[in-house]
Formats: sequence, structure tokens, C-alpha cells
Amino acid sequence: MIGSDMERRFADLFGSLGEIGGSPVSGYDRLIFNPAELAARRWFRDQAQRLNLDVQTDGNTNMWAWWGRERSGAIGTGSHLDSVVKGGAFDGALGVVAAFVAVEHLQQTYPEPLAPIAIIAFAGEEGARFGLPTLGSRLLSGAVNPQDVLARTDSRGTTFGDAMVAAGFDPDTIGPDTGRMAQLSCYVELHVEQGRGLVDQGAAVGVISDVWPHGRYRIELTGIADHAGAATMDGRADPMLVLAEWIRAAEEAGGDRVRTTVGRVVVAPNSTNTIASGVSAWLDARGAVAEEVDAAVAAIREITTNRAADRNVGMGFQEESWSPAVVFDSGLSERTQSVLARLGHESLPLATAAGHDAAVLGLQIPSAMLHVRNPTGVSHAPQEHASHEDCVAGVEALAAVLEELACR
Ligand SMILES: [Zn+2]
Repeated sequence: MIGSDMERRFADLFGSLGEIGGSPVSGYDRLIFNPAELAARRWFRDQAQRLNLDVQTDGNTNMWAWWGRERSGAIGTGSHLDSVVKGGAFDGALGVVAAFVAVEHLQQTYPEPLAPIAIIAFAGEEGARFGLPTLGSRLLSGAVNPQDVLARTDSRGTTFGDAMVAAGFDPDTIGPDTGRMAQLSCYVELHVEQGRGLVDQGAAVGVISDVWPHGRYRIELTGIADHAGAATMDGRADPMLVLAEWIRAAEEAGGDRVRTTVGRVVVAPNSTNTIASGVSAWLDARGAVAEEVDAAVAAIREITTNRAADRNVGMGFQEESWSPAVVFDSGLSERTQSVLARLGHESLPLATAAGHDAAVLGLQIPSAMLHVRNPTGVSHAPQEHASHEDCVAGVEALAAVLEELACR
């Protein structure tokens, strides 16, 4: 494919995936195993079949499309098809679309790659439904206990295992897959930037050096439901007041080194004229240094524990996930950087605060990430954006990297 064909193909594929599970205006709700996410899986299968790629779903429900015979020494690429609640159009989708367009482009020149290329759509990267991000890559690489995953519940109380069954998958098949991991010699993921690092550098595409450590935590506050008018103010056990302390403590303890967010709260019974009986709230904390994240979370927990005791409210605390810092493979990143330089993209490697499957895999195999400029800097919201020109530049860059790794 010449440049304009690639551009047109990108527009076609990104447009067709963009019709599934939402719109760029309202946002996307492709949560793992929901009808939209299952439709996106059918889209993946269609694209693979169109390019004559052998398509599979592994035991952890990650999807694979092989160009070249499935064997060891494979170059992995791709991203994820799921979204957060009301997510943007680019997060995940860009990397999967780019991988298909890049492979189609290379197919015009090479009848077969020297090393097979596996396009992978990792399952449940966002963790929006079951609380654990990068679920598919963690299961595949053995970074999480499958029994713990099966028992996780969504906001309706449905377990991961039951959700798998309802979507037509077999819960007995999840867990580490050393055979598959051993087939991958490396993994390269293209992703929309979640920040404005490339905007500041005036670059359309750039390489990521490392990923910040990242934790998710949950508190359960238990109070006593009562009449909003009849109950006097002094005798109450109101978990909403402790929630307010938790949110304030998160902001204060985070300071300017640790980014803390309380973005999800579930209140029971959630009634205007009833004192709440219970609150579940989640904290997301990340920073460049793991010890600083740990210290901030410990401080937030201590302050909130004390306030809960003062107010006669019960409190439970749980770490839902921890993702360690990852430094991407320097050899692979330098190779990727030199391909970018050849294409005229000059930028300094950036760190990212967002977790990715490439970071999970990067703990076991060389992995690298390319980011595409996001002028709004916003992500996980409909405002997330990348221009058509920058996306196409990203696709061309990914194609050139895959050519270098798999075809020469
Ligand atoms: Zn993503």
C-alpha cells in the first residue's frame, strides 16, 4: 500500500470499529464481555479473516491474529478493544487498528514475514468492570492468580467466572500460558498519548521509556441508616462524612509527587432522605517512585481510619491491584527510536503514568511503546483525541518498526 492507501484503510478500519459501543461524542462503553465488547471481538475476527490471518482466542480470552505460521520468535503487536465507562475513541482501538493496517501494508511487499507477527487484542485492559487493569496480559503471563480473578465481581455482583460463561467462554481455561508467552520474542504497542508530552515536544509520534507504578485501593465504610430529619446530628454514624475525609486526605497526601484520584463511589441505599448505611469508594494512586505512592496511600489510610473511628463508622481497606514500575527494553526502544528518526520523527523518550499491557509483558519479554500525540492531553473521556494525520503517522511508524523486526 502506498501512503494514501494506508491513510484510507486507516480511516475505514478506525471508522468501522468506532461504530461499536458508543460514539466519539457520547463516549464508548466496551467493558469486558458486554455486548459491545463482544461485537468488537467479531470486528477483530473479520479484520483477521480479511487479511487471511489465522485468528484464535486464547484461554484468557485475548485474541490473536497471526501473519506467518504460529511459532516461536514471533513479534507481538496490538493493544486492547475494551474501554473505560464513557471512554474515548482512541485508547486501545488505535493500536489494534494500526496493527491491522500495518500488516496489510507489509503484505503488499512481503509474501511471508521472516518472523511471524501476532496481532493481539488483550482482554480487559482497562479493568473498568472487574477492578483489575491489564487483566488479559496479567493472566497470560502469570502475574495474577486465576482463582482470584474468577472470584472478582462487577458492580452488579456478577463474578468474572459467570461473566465468562455468559459470554460463551470457559472459566477453566484461564491462567498462565507459558507456551504462548514463549512464542513472543518481543511486543510493540502503539497507543494514544495520555498526557501532553508530545504536544510540548512538537512531535506527532514518540517512544515511551518507562511506566509509573500504580495502585488501586478500595474502602468499605459501614454506617447506620436512619431518617434524614428525625435523627439528630450528634448521634449519627454517617459514612458519607468519612468519604469526604478520604477524598480530601487523598488530595493532601498525594501532594505534587503522587497523583491520587477518587473517581468511583457506590452509596447505599443512595436515597436523598436517608443517612447512608454504606459506602464503597475507590482510590487510584500513581507516581514516578513506588515508595512515594506507598507512603501517600498509607497516610490516606491512617487519616481515614482515625476519622472513621471518630464518627462511629466501620472501615475496611483493600488493595485491589498493584502494577510495578516498568522500564521498557532499552535495545528494542533504541531500535524503535532509530526507525522513527529515519521517518523524520525526532523526540525524547517520555515516561507515562498510564498502565499498559506492554508494561505487563515488559516484565518478561522485551517490549516497547509508541505514542501518538493527543492535543487535548485528555484520556478516558470523549475529549481524548488524535488528529487523522498524526494517527496515520503512527501507523506508518508501527509498520516500519514491524518491517524492521519481522521482515528483514
Ligand atoms: Zn489503553
